[in-house]
Amino acid sequence: MKIVVLTGAGVSAESGLGTFRDTDGLWTKYDLNDVATPEGFARDPALVHDFYNARRANCLESLPNAAHTALAALERSASHSLTLITQNIDDLHERAGSTEVIHMHGALMQALCVACDARWGAPIRMRPDDRCPTCGTRATRPDVVWFGEVPYQMDRIGEAVQASDLFVAIGTSAEVYPAAGLVELAGGETLELNLEPSARANAFGARQFGRATEIVPAWVAKITG
Ligand code: NAD
Repeated sequence: MKIVVLTGAGVSAESGLGTFRDTDGLWTKYDLNDVATPEGFARDPALVHDFYNARRANCLESLPNAAHTALAALERSASHSLTLITQNIDDLHERAGSTEVIHMHGALMQALCVACDARWGAPIRMRPDDRCPTCGTRATRPDVVWFGEVPYQMDRIGEAVQASDLFVAIGTSAEVYPAAGLVELAGGETLELNLEPSARANAFGARQFGRATEIVPAWVAKITG
């Protein structure tokens, strides 16, 4: 069976990484226009770096949880093929053992040069005057996709979702497009696993609610027998 899984911030919530839209989420403390848009970065790059430097430090202190581990086990299972797409910029899927993760919104642990497109491992603290190690230009930024920018690998993602026998969205509020619209492309069955119904819950053929660390391992155990 071809399975495509899309994860969101909810899969990392129990690892101690804040979600964005929950009542105590990051957007209640920061204005997304200031820290997650190209315009915000142009206005105040130091503030944006501070925001992502704090996210990076938080991520380094966190550990993958049982949901990440279960999805890594699903990738290794011989009975299914898995395409794992994440909206998360953390690296907890990789640290749990997933080897092929499509980071549609980029990666916190990576830096990008806007002058020459080079990518490299981000230092824990990025600064506005950092130089690109390839071309030397002071035009570096976190390799994350901001609001108003086009997510990565959309063609590959669309093809995988269309060709899937089962599309599963885990821990995502379905407020951010185009990720929220992927369920419409799904060629087979669809399932939502979330703490509570997302904005698109009714678009899924089946749904199950609870903490990711409980419902994801249970679902993986069920389908891998
Ligand atoms: P979101 O914050 O909008 O939604 C989080 C979802 O997770 C909600 O539906 C919530 O009910 C659910 N949830 C919360 N705790 C859960 C738990 N313990 N178990 C299962 N589900 C739980 O996040 P989103 O939908 O991913 O979209 C917002 C954007 O936020 C994305 O673009 C993503 O890049 C970014 N983001 C990433 C991280 C990260 O990398 N860890 C963290 C916060 C936000």
